[in-house]
Amino acid sequence: MTQQKITILGATGSIGVSTLDVVARHPDRFSVFALTGHRQLEKLAEQCRRYQPRFAAVLDEGQASRLRELLAPFVLQTEVLSGIEAFEQLSSASEVDTVVAAIVGAAGLRPTLAAVRAGKRVLLANKETLVVAGQLFMRTAKNSGAVLLPVDSEHNAIFQSLPQPWQGDLAMCGVRRIILTASGGPFRAYTLDAMSQVTPEQACAHPNWVMGKKISVDSATMMNKGLEVIEAHYLFNAAPKQIEVVIHPQSVIHSMVDYLDGSVMAQLGNPDMRTPIAHALGYPDRIDSGVSMLDLIGKNLTFERPDDARFPCLKLAFDALERGGVMPAVLNAANEVAVEAFLGRRIRYDQISSVIAAAMTQAYAHSAQTLDDLLAVDADARRFAQQQLLRCAA
Ligand code: NAD
Ligand code: MG
Repeated sequence: MTQQKITILGATGSIGVSTLDVVARHPDRFSVFALTGHRQLEKLAEQCRRYQPRFAAVLDEGQASRLRELLAPFVLQTEVLSGIEAFEQLSSASEVDTVVAAIVGAAGLRPTLAAVRAGKRVLLANKETLVVAGQLFMRTAKNSGAVLLPVDSEHNAIFQSLPQPWQGDLAMCGVRRIILTASGGPFRAYTLDAMSQVTPEQACAHPNWVMGKKISVDSATMMNKGLEVIEAHYLFNAAPKQIEVVIHPQSVIHSMVDYLDGSVMAQLGNPDMRTPIAHALGYPDRIDSGVSMLDLIGKNLTFERPDDARFPCLKLAFDALERGGVMPAVLNAANEVAVEAFLGRRIRYDQISSVIAAAMTQAYAHSAQTLDDLLAVDADARRFAQQQLLRCAA
């Protein structure tokens, strides 16, 4: 077996840590080429000591000096680099086989795209990159021969429920619908009134999954599911009408594919991201993930329709997809700004959706073909959303 050399973008985050846990179980299969981080330098230093990557990278030279200091007492081969260009180099270097895209937000766009351009095997957790630049991503992957393997649990479940090898055409394999399951988050049963009072701590306390803060808030507003609808649209070439969202509070079924003959294929498992990560790392082989066996005895699996009135963000994401062009990028940028403001207690939870709706109302759904165009749209939408925050505070 040839060993895969891996770069993990966002190694210090929730997905990064779960990936390293799976990688460590298979030293014969995987070796770590590079790790990137941001802010949590002690954690990155500890990962460097444990996994001995050839490179580690952080965003600026100040962080790099601090990381070098932390690593100085140890005899390591790890070279510390800095800057987004270093991230791009480490995800496209000729030695690298696999890149795990686990940075949160549009900040992951450039290094993830660099991996796709270089024709790598790309394990995609960073859904925001697809939401912002889906067309560009899919076109680039087609041209470079990059293999995109979804790590987001729902998309990984859909991938597993599609015929293999997946050829990129739903109609050709008799698929009628993709059914994305959603847990409904911590406020599934809250009234609109109760939701206006919720705190960042409550929003981050997800009932089934342990995740980074931004995706936890997205799960609470159901924007996470909205972003996943857009992600599914690009990954599986699915029309918006072919994508349905169903609330399934137990998070046992991770998503489903509905075929013309009435068959519905599903993937089930415990809610632990090491399962989709191990699936994508090992694909097409099956490898141990460390996740305990699913025990179905005594479990009730239930399903509900999502409520647009209490979860307007899901509807906004469908609207962005219908309006097309750069609208999903606008939605994403405004959401990132609004979620950060909510976490910083500068706006209320129920103001997140108003900031996004306002940003979408003032934007045009023109098409953008290049990375620079998309980054400009992202920057404009962020500026507008920042102004909206001031109105929320007034
Ligand atoms: P996290 O906040 O725990 O970790 C984010 C990582 O990105 C960290 O390593 C951080 O250092 C890095 N990072 C943050 N800002 C950065 C910046 N500006 N530049 C460079 N690096 C930066 O997030 P997470 O929960 O691990 O999620 C990562 C991605 O995976 C997100 O896109 C999320 O939607 C997706 N995802 C996460 C889960 C989950 O269970 N956590 C599930 C499915 C998909
Ligand atoms: Mg998901």
